[in-house]
Amino acid sequence: KLALRTEGLHKTYQRGRIKTQALRGVSLAIPRGTFCCIVGPSGHGKSTLMHLLGALDRPTSGQVFVEDQEIGKLSSSELAALRARRIGFVFQFFNLLPTLSAQENVTAAMMFSDKNKNNRAQRARELLDLVGLSDKYKAPPNELSGGQQQRVAIARALANDPDILLMDEPTGNLDSEAEAEVMATIDQLHQQGKTIVIVTHNNEIAARAQQVIRVKDGRLVEF
Ligand code: ADP
Ligand code: ADP
Repeated sequence: KLALRTEGLHKTYQRGRIKTQALRGVSLAIPRGTFCCIVGPSGHGKSTLMHLLGALDRPTSGQVFVEDQEIGKLSSSELAALRARRIGFVFQFFNLLPTLSAQENVTAAMMFSDKNKNNRAQRARELLDLVGLSDKYKAPPNELSGGQQQRVAIARALANDPDILLMDEPTGNLDSEAEAEVMATIDQLHQQGKTIVIVTHNNEIAARAQQVIRVKDGRLVEF
């Protein structure tokens, strides 16, 4: 069973008369439960690929399948539901809401949940426990270290219990201690069966991956 698959993905950005071919025919398959890294030089299409895998953007041509479902065939509301329920996103900059506590940042992501308010709060605390932040429920982002903020962002990505986690440079803005905390959390989620896809420049992270996808000039490099 595949978590993610693409067939002949092309993405061309157009700004005025300038066209950028960010992806030029990418076909890949990521089995369920895989720890996968996407690597390659800056500006070669990694973030674009990640955005297409997560249905944050549509390809110029080609197909993306999430759990065998071709997402190009979904309406925009079906797409929004898929993004919210099946896929969790984590970015380099944590994008937490500064006026909300850690717990509130997590519950804010439960817009598709049928849980009531108390159950949402309970679920948020469980997720913060899972990422090792049991003593930080009430803390706003500015009282947390970078590694702690990123772990809140991971808890938020898990709010609707997605099977797939897409992460764009999740440790790119962290020191090595914080990176180790975040990677330990990611390893634990992988052991629980999540499919993990990480864009990274970090060779140590890529060395731990079960599958490494190398992108160069908008194409995959075989090796
Ligand atoms: P990477 O993640 O490997 O650094 P990106 O996927 O961000 O690469 O970018 C690939 C190419 O597409 C680059 O030339 C970048 O400038 C261009 N690009 C990315 N996003 C956009 C956009 N929204 N509009 C125009 N060009 C873009
Ligand atoms: P990084 O390489 O650190 O992931 P990116 O180059 O991907 O950073 O830039 C982050 C985001 O900015 C991209 O996902 C894309 O949407 C946007 N972006 C990148 N390049 C361009 C560009 N040339 N024009 C407009 N938006 C861009």
